[in-house]
Amino acid sequence: MLDACPRCGYSLQGLPADHACPECGLRYDRESEVYKHRNLKALFLGLLGFVGGAGGMVNLARVYGNAGALWRMGIIFCVVVYFVGAVWLARYVYRLYRSGPLVAILPDGLYVRLRRVEGQWTAWKDVSGVQFRAGVGRGGATLQVTGRRPLFIDGVFTSTDDARRFVSLVAARLETARTCAD
Ligand SMILES: [Zn+2]
Repeated sequence: MLDACPRCGYSLQGLPADHACPECGLRYDRESEVYKHRNLKALFLGLLGFVGGAGGMVNLARVYGNAGALWRMGIIFCVVVYFVGAVWLARYVYRLYRSGPLVAILPDGLYVRLRRVEGQWTAWKDVSGVQFRAGVGRGGATLQVTGRRPLFIDGVFTSTDDARRFVSLVAARLETARTCAD
């Protein structure tokens, strides 16, 4: 089940399990799966810590607020810089969440958006094969696409097992697509 459209980020909550995104028309079904850059959780936690720190700074301003004009100015300056930083970070995390690297297995094809690959959708009929490839760290998957250079997908899997699972799911979809076409 998808909770947001992998292509445009539109919320799919409350919509049927087999449907198309009302915003961009991307089709999905109940077996659709998204592999996403998961460091997001760590980023969100970091953001929480950052906001907590801002709270501490406000407290500091309260305690030292009467220590003199220069002190007060310095503390106000720090608080402003800190909050601007927090807003910037929140925006960064949100944008990564909305349009960060991901791969989505969908009923008609695969949607891929990576750091070096702009969002692209490939129909299953144009995919000729998929292989697991051990690489640096968590490994990845090589997608063979008819008439195009092979596409190497990485940076969206949490482990080599995750990457292998992706490969088997894609292989299953290719199998289904082939059977249906016959
Ligand atoms: Zn959409």
